[in-house]
Amino acid sequence: MKKQRKKSYDAIVIGAGISGILSALALSKEGKKVLIIEKDSIAGGNCRTYEVNGYHVDTGPHAITALAQGPLKQLINQYFTIVPRFFPIGNYFVRDKNKLQEFPLTIMQLAKFDILPKKERLIMSSSMIDAVANFSLNREVLDKSIYEFMKKYKPAEKTLKLIDTISYFLSGKSMKETPTWRILGGSGYIDEDDKSNKKHLKTLIKFTKNNYSSQGYPLGGIQSITDCAINSIPKNNATFRMNEKVLELITENNTIKGVQTDKNIYYSDLVIYSGFMKNLPSLTKNLANKYKEELEKLHQTKSLTIWFGLKKKLPELSYIGSEIYFDTDTPYWAIPLSNFDAHLAPKNKQLVGFSTIIKNGSQEDRIKKLKKTIFKAIPGIEENIELEHIQITIPEKAAVSTGVKFPSPKSPIKNLYLVGTDTDMRSMGITRASYSVIEALKFMKDDGVI
Ligand SMILES: Cc1cc2nc3c(=O)[nH]c(=O)nc-3n(C[C@H](O)[C@H](O)[C@H](O)COP(=O)(O)OP(=O)(O)OC[C@H]3O[C@@H](n4cnc5c(N)ncnc54)[C@H](O)[C@@H]3O)c2cc1C
Repeated sequence: MKKQRKKSYDAIVIGAGISGILSALALSKEGKKVLIIEKDSIAGGNCRTYEVNGYHVDTGPHAITALAQGPLKQLINQYFTIVPRFFPIGNYFVRDKNKLQEFPLTIMQLAKFDILPKKERLIMSSSMIDAVANFSLNREVLDKSIYEFMKKYKPAEKTLKLIDTISYFLSGKSMKETPTWRILGGSGYIDEDDKSNKKHLKTLIKFTKNNYSSQGYPLGGIQSITDCAINSIPKNNATFRMNEKVLELITENNTIKGVQTDKNIYYSDLVIYSGFMKNLPSLTKNLANKYKEELEKLHQTKSLTIWFGLKKKLPELSYIGSEIYFDTDTPYWAIPLSNFDAHLAPKNKQLVGFSTIIKNGSQEDRIKKLKKTIFKAIPGIEENIELEHIQITIPEKAAVSTGVKFPSPKSPIKNLYLVGTDTDMRSMGITRASYSVIEALKFMKDDGVI
């Protein structure tokens, strides 16, 4: 195909996932003419909702964290003209032998959490207090894996399964690879933004009062965040090129000058890359070997989600919130999505998504095992399924694991900035993507680019 020369833009954003869209929104509101290039036909990446036989499924079950004063809220306040509406996320439950119990976040809840024997609950309480005390006093200890941290307490097999399940869902990695700080941050005990050692008291108070009040689910499906961001972009400041893949970064004297796609060449003195950082070396020869080696260390996790459309609403799934089931080799996190927004399922029907990690074995084997686990955990479900929809996805571009460092949003190439869930370790998913955009914007301001 003949390549055409194209006009230049103030900024080019590679990728129209949520981090690319948020970057494009911020830059366009700063008055920049932005070009957004996306290799897929639809914007949103992993932040999408689509219809399957009358049901509206998300790209995986989502709970948006840190909504109260977190990074997404900051970006919404500063740049969104059309604002997504969030429904409180409700409770996290643990299902065991066909009963649901609230996930224990406080010492009081843990004392009543009889899914684990009393001795194990004491172990959990002591280790939680120990870990939080170390956050203030000896933070390096928390870089150890949660398994390393816990093993002195000699937890029973069932407790380890619970910890392993939480590790997978918070970091994408097992308890042997997940740093202890990740578990504390993900469960709301510590503030991952807090670089000081002065919030010991505040952290300890969380043992008596900790909840998910700042988490939410967007009405209309997860895509409504993407849609609100896109619709907030001033029309005359943005151009979208869909179905076009960036193949190469154009540089001169280690400074970005534009991009080459499979269809065109575009010029700009500012480029924001939101694809996988692992793939960055394939787009440019201008990276030092040491930097490339760090990028190669980034690990990804593959997840499997099964969406079930149910002929009727089941009493077993009548709650607002989500559940985990952990006493199995295929633990899941499930969310009865249509309980948050009834429009996501046809009238009087129910939509529920079950997600697990693909650790080993074939995809078919994992699908079979996940279904077996679900049918055992919720006996009434199988005969009510009228839709089955399977998704295999990479939830975050890099898992937070021990000994791994994410690259900074400021790349070694001048005026090339990096955003997405592999450039900031704080929180998860969309919140993490939002943190990365805020950090990248700070660098751009400091560098005088915007
Ligand atoms: C099962 C599952 C559960 C999840 N649960 C949660 C949750 O509870 N809470 C939460 O906050 N998040 C959750 N997430 C994660 C969240 O959806 C993602 O982390 C987030 O959407 C990632 O956004 P991103 O912009 O960083 O990356 P992506 O969505 O991957 O976007 C990157 C975009 O760049 C495009 N691209 C890449 N390379 C190129 C190129 N060379 N040229 C052109 N385009 C390119 C891609 O096509 C893509 O559209 C979950 C995800 C899954 C799959």
